[in-house]
Amino acid sequence: MALESINPATGELLEKFDEWSPGKTQETLAAVDLAWRDWRRTSFAERAANLRRAAQVLRQNKDEYARIMALEMGKPITSGRAEVDKCAWVCDYYAENAAAMLADEPAQSDGSRSYVAFRPLGMILAVMPWNFPFWQVFRFAAPALMAGNTGVLKHSSNVPRCALAIEDVFRQAGFPENVFRTLMIGANQVETVIENELIKAVTLTGSEAAGRKVAAKAGEMLKKVVLELGGSDPFIVLADADVEDSAETAAKSRCINSGQSCIAAKRFIIEAEIYDRWLEKFKDAMAALVVGDPLNEQTQLGPQAREDLMLELHGQVETSLAKGAELLLGGKPLKRKGYFYPPTILAEVKPGMPAYHEELFGPVASVIRVQNAEEAIEVANATLFGLGGSVWTRDSSKGETLAARIEAGAVFVNGLVKSDPRLPFGGIKNSGFGRELSYFGIRQFVNIQTVWVK
Ligand code: NDP
Repeated sequence: MALESINPATGELLEKFDEWSPGKTQETLAAVDLAWRDWRRTSFAERAANLRRAAQVLRQNKDEYARIMALEMGKPITSGRAEVDKCAWVCDYYAENAAAMLADEPAQSDGSRSYVAFRPLGMILAVMPWNFPFWQVFRFAAPALMAGNTGVLKHSSNVPRCALAIEDVFRQAGFPENVFRTLMIGANQVETVIENELIKAVTLTGSEAAGRKVAAKAGEMLKKVVLELGGSDPFIVLADADVEDSAETAAKSRCINSGQSCIAAKRFIIEAEIYDRWLEKFKDAMAALVVGDPLNEQTQLGPQAREDLMLELHGQVETSLAKGAELLLGGKPLKRKGYFYPPTILAEVKPGMPAYHEELFGPVASVIRVQNAEEAIEVANATLFGLGGSVWTRDSSKGETLAARIEAGAVFVNGLVKSDPRLPFGGIKNSGFGRELSYFGIRQFVNIQTVWVK
């Protein structure tokens, strides 16, 4: 099998890489484990110096990395630069804070001295997706490496050039050889990698289907796993909300990364009293988005990353329409080269439609009318997912009260759901388990060791 880089704006094959043989994969795992034996003994200061240099490399080569993302998965170039900056931020953040986050914690016991220490686990496997091809990897790597682990990356098969560029960031930053490596393998080799005893834990960001497979294998091998899967985030707008601000943010949130984000708002739950007014503003904001070539500085919405994903999205739209949803905007692939899907609004979305129950991984908004806040909460929770959500109301204490009732890993009141190195990130229900970022994230892949002295 080959790993192929295809430009989704044109459908053109850019590059093809041969998949590694299982033998080469195993040799690389052995080398990364060997590197761990030294890396685990380095000081926080030494690790931090490496990570700060990685942040510099990222900033210096920002344009190049943004261009690779634009060509390989269609991310608008301005968003690509912002993504690289965010990667540099997470490196600096953990360089600055890891030592304090993992400092020994004194504990009371019947010993003369007892405390909790956070020891590295070893080599961690990261199975990562194409949608934020740099960010998802650095979000894992920065805390994992600062904790004294080493990392191997199995990236999505459609972003091999990104995968190689990321490995090169660590090389250019002067990390010791093999502390972080990219494995050029397809999904079919992941099980044997997990079986390798040198792999100590696994993290996956991606679809529910891939999450189930990887978690099942990790369970069989008794290895810890963190899963960050899909979402169908509710965006609740109450009658007293700022209509303009919420409608504009709604369009932004739905169409971030051309609609391909796990924490994009996907279901817009609007109180009847403002439904028509809100929808009009929302439609204006969605229609105003500039769709085009991801290399163009003005573009806000690029192509979908792969043809199969765009067709799947369109299928969900068509089935929802056939079941009675109302099409207010967009609704079919654009007639041009590449995999372009326009901003789309489905209104009067009801139970039984894919747009109500499934994750729509593209710029398609499902709008649901509700009578009051109680019904809004009921609809918000009527999903198998539980990643993020937002509530819009001028009464922010009411917003906080409702936030407590939303079944999700993160709730934002009057704001766009976004990840931030300082805040934990992750979901409940079918959105996965475990947390990334903040001190919760760095404590995922450590041995929490109790030390007791008589
Ligand atoms: P996948 O979940 O298939 O891909 C994510 C990663 O998992 C890739 O590295 C992939 O490798 C790997 N993978 C896939 N199947 C397995 C398996 N059986 N065992 C081990 N690893 C596996 O996502 P897709 O790219 O196919 O996208 C499909 C849907 O997933 C989207 O429409 C969206 O709903 C969701 N998704 C969610 C993301 C999120 O941020 N939570 C990100 C991306 C997608 P390979 O590429 O080689 O198959």
